[in-house]
Amino acid sequence: MKDNEILKVSSLCKQFGANKVLKGVDLTVNKGDVIAIIGPSGCGKSTFLRCMNLLETPSSGEILFENDLIFKNYSVHTKEQIHEVQKEIHALKKSGEDYSTKQNELNALKQTLTEQKADENIVNKSINKTIDIHRQKIGMVFQQFNLFNNLTVLENITLAPIQVEKKLRKESGKTLAQIKEEAEKKAYELLKTIDLEDKANAYPSTLSGGQKQRIAIVRALAMNPSVILFDEPTSALDPEMVGEVLDLMKKLAESGMTMVIVTHEMGFAREVADRVLFMDDGIIAEQAHPSEFFTNPQNPRLKTFLSKVL
Ligand code: ADP
Ligand code: MG
Repeated sequence: MKDNEILKVSSLCKQFGANKVLKGVDLTVNKGDVIAIIGPSGCGKSTFLRCMNLLETPSSGEILFENDLIFKNYSVHTKEQIHEVQKEIHALKKSGEDYSTKQNELNALKQTLTEQKADENIVNKSINKTIDIHRQKIGMVFQQFNLFNNLTVLENITLAPIQVEKKLRKESGKTLAQIKEEAEKKAYELLKTIDLEDKANAYPSTLSGGQKQRIAIVRALAMNPSVILFDEPTSALDPEMVGEVLDLMKKLAESGMTMVIVTHEMGFAREVADRVLFMDDGIIAEQAHPSEFFTNPQNPRLKTFLSKVL
């Protein structure tokens, strides 16, 4: 992984039962990148984001995050191939034909499988130890805000940072009171940046959608993430509240935050993104700088999609 790379996804596949949703997605996210992902409903955008921070376990492929492998699995493909070759051998045997070539192929695949499994075992062991740390560094903002309704705004923002600091107490020597105080101080600073300090002790149910989403964003920021993934952050908002959330995201982008944003806001993507990706049928069918992407789309399905949404 190069120094400026934060996330690197290779050949990522995800299927739910027989439904193949992601069919080999590659994406490299560099420090400071603002990447917009667009695409028709159901094409796998949310699944892709959820796989990137392992809220969803991918079926196969590889994910590197800040030089650490956080997911690796290629053996499922090899298993599928083995299954196919076994079927072919079976058919050849039945019709009395020579199957020695296929048998050699099968043996080679089995050898590959053994090696891949050994490799994956090593990776998975270290992943289990570090996955929490990685998750903390990959922030996520959801369409439905996902605030805890039984907690105040302040508690929502400080919950995760306090949990993290509590685990580090042996090393840091901080008292619980200190940990709480520091987390609250930071939460107030963050609330100040969005002009919602006066809502610190309010419950989410008393807030507007726009306020909730801005709080969800600063909650993600409270963890000092290396990258934030946004899944249609404005899709659940009344139209008059979309602007305040997009403005905050724009400020974040300008401050150098690395962001991957699934969105239907084409104007925002055009203005703020460094790269726009078109996801279609489980792959990234096109990606380009917005100036190129919107004015000179190549993929016929992207052309159709843009003609509907622009
Ligand atoms: P998008 O965000 O682009 O609208 P999604 O990633 O939500 O698409 O969904 C892609 C496909 O994956 C859909 O067919 C959806 O039904 C399926 N899917 C998503 N999550 C699950 C799940 N947890 N279990 C089964 N199928 C799922
Ligand atoms: Mg979605």
